[in-house]
Amino acid sequence: MAKVLYEKDIQKEVLQEKKIAVVGYGSQGHAHAQNLRDSGYDVVIGLRPGKSQEKAEQDGFEVFSVAEAVSVADVVMVLLPDEQQQKVYYESIQANLKSGSAIAFAHGFNIHFSQVVPPLDVDVFLVAPKGPGHLVRRTYEEGAGVPALYGVFQDVTGNAKELALAYSQGIGAARAGVLETSFQEETETDLFGEQAVLCGGVTSLIKAGFETLTEAGYQPEVAYFECMHEMKLIVDLLYEGGLENMRYSISDTAQWGDFVSGPRVVNDETKARMKDVLTDIQKGEFAKGWILENQAGRPQFNAINAQENKHQIETVGRELRDLMPFVKNPLHGKQNKQKD
Ligand code: NDP
Ligand code: MG
Ligand code: MG
Repeated sequence: MAKVLYEKDIQKEVLQEKKIAVVGYGSQGHAHAQNLRDSGYDVVIGLRPGKSQEKAEQDGFEVFSVAEAVSVADVVMVLLPDEQQQKVYYESIQANLKSGSAIAFAHGFNIHFSQVVPPLDVDVFLVAPKGPGHLVRRTYEEGAGVPALYGVFQDVTGNAKELALAYSQGIGAARAGVLETSFQEETETDLFGEQAVLCGGVTSLIKAGFETLTEAGYQPEVAYFECMHEMKLIVDLLYEGGLENMRYSISDTAQWGDFVSGPRVVNDETKARMKDVLTDIQKGEFAKGWILENQAGRPQFNAINAQENKHQIETVGRELRDLMPFVKNPLHGKQNKQKD
């Protein structure tokens, strides 16, 4: 079994006395910055003027331009959107990186697909939390953490791995466990997970179930509760105790249905499609498409997003959630995409 490291396995000294610049203050940025500060580290923020800058200042951070933050830092964590990293890196980061400092990422995309090629005199490491940024913060405050992968792309000081581990500890990830990986493995598995299972797989499964029921004449509200609302309750049981715990909690009828019908829906054909998705990721096809989509101003992304927001499961869901005040919707009154 792979070696999972916890707080007791990690030396913190290597990161103490160092200044950490967190570049970006979005989903991951606000969580890393606040957790590191609460863990006793010296953190500054690098940003452009705007919403995030105001938020970081309200949260009590010193906010600099990206170039200034990088120039004073010993460790630069890049928490910009993946599709912005190349531009900001070449405009404001590269020329200001101190020799012998470290640049770090929370996802390997730009390094692995050569969108960012760092100089040869800095350490390059990865600390990729396996969870949404808002949970990286919330779990830290609760005394827990979100697990993370760490990896080293370039080690010039001989300390890159220790730095990555200390950083993981600083954001609370080592409370949950950290596991060594490479930029390649993190990038490919992260993209695959979000596309085939966590985001793409789950949303497609939910919508297909909802459409099957409503097209058969059942009430959309019933279909919503069945296919969307209850998903969270089931996923909580999976998170807490795996398949066995979930199956312990459901009725034997549901468990028998799980055994005989699940594999009829997600079958060898589905798995073959998953393999196609993985192959596209491994060959850089997915990356190329996403990079070009951004260069074109996101025509397809925006069109699909608008379409998806109009799906009946969304219109029915908004109405039903409004009647369940205990369901906290961070988008209440704002519409559009929740960042996580
Ligand atoms: P967000 O979109 O939530 O935040 C991006 C931040 O970057 C914002 O503060 C934004 O500020 C700032 N920003 C955007 N463009 C610029 C620019 N040109 N110059 C300066 N600042 C800019 O990003 P995420 O936190 O989702 O993602 C950050 C990284 O973390 C990515 O590599 C992602 O793959 C990785 N990751 C994300 C996870 C998640 O939970 N979201 C999970 C694991 C890894 P402004 O308000 O000015 O736009
Ligand atoms: Mg991920
Ligand atoms: Mg990802």
